[in-house]
Amino acid sequence: MQPCRPLPYIPPAMPGELPSSWLRRIAAEYGVDLRHLTAHFGLSVCRSWEIDRALPADDIRRIAVALRTDPAEFREMMHRAATRILRPTSVPLQVCMQCQAGHRAATRLPVTIRAWFEFSQIECEHCRTPFSPTSRPSLTRCNPAREEPVWFESIRPPARVGARLLADFARRPLTSRFSPVAILQLLSMRFDAIRFATRPVGRCGADELFASRRIIELFVPGLSELRRDNLIPAPWTSDKPVRLVTARTILLAGMAALLSSREKTLDLLTRVSSCVSHPGFGPLLTSLTSSADWA
Ligand SMILES: [Zn+2]
Repeated sequence: MQPCRPLPYIPPAMPGELPSSWLRRIAAEYGVDLRHLTAHFGLSVCRSWEIDRALPADDIRRIAVALRTDPAEFREMMHRAATRILRPTSVPLQVCMQCQAGHRAATRLPVTIRAWFEFSQIECEHCRTPFSPTSRPSLTRCNPAREEPVWFESIRPPARVGARLLADFARRPLTSRFSPVAILQLLSMRFDAIRFATRPVGRCGADELFASRRIIELFVPGLSELRRDNLIPAPWTSDKPVRLVTARTILLAGMAALLSSREKTLDLLTRVSSCVSHPGFGPLLTSLTSSADWA
């Protein structure tokens, strides 16, 4: 089957837009739906998730001819290959409010951006605006104090470093130094802060909530001072890696701090080890201690 001729008018793709979103908007310009457009192009698939994740090379060549684009550029628009735990979500995790407002001004059709589906992204690649949750925040998982503006700005640079590590791991898990997922799990573990504290117990307060803190508080400056109920991120688990983008930002800043100094990290983790009851802590500390992969 010959590739179809190039379309006479092609609305440009938005920065970071997923292929299915772009094709759906092109189809709307011609008064048809995505299924009709993919049939006209002679593609072997027609569903959004297949177009965004698993488009065969021959289909990409056909689209490139019809849309007068470079096959490699079109392939770049698709979701990247990722490890199972970090694969893109099926619905958006987050949005860029600024870009979304621009999309709405430019087109009445919905636009979906690839980074909105990725755990490793915490801010917009296009305009650098921090991402916002897609739905109203759950009060059980969110606390406005966690987004105290000056403090939150201060953790964004290290969080970007952590986000890059997570993105690299998602794309090339076999070449990464450590599993960022294991480190995020470690940072989410709780420890007994009263036993760990060098300050007198009386000054720490003796309530149960204060006694139980998360290891990430040892690595992110100022996090402990912002502590309120539900202030600390819920545990990262392999079954539930989805988080509020704010919690992810804090965790990624903690990961960057943990990996920035072997000596300081191992000293801190060794000192807190007797105050952690999580069964996974010991094996993680051992693997960190014995690893020859530190920078
Ligand atoms: Zn943006």
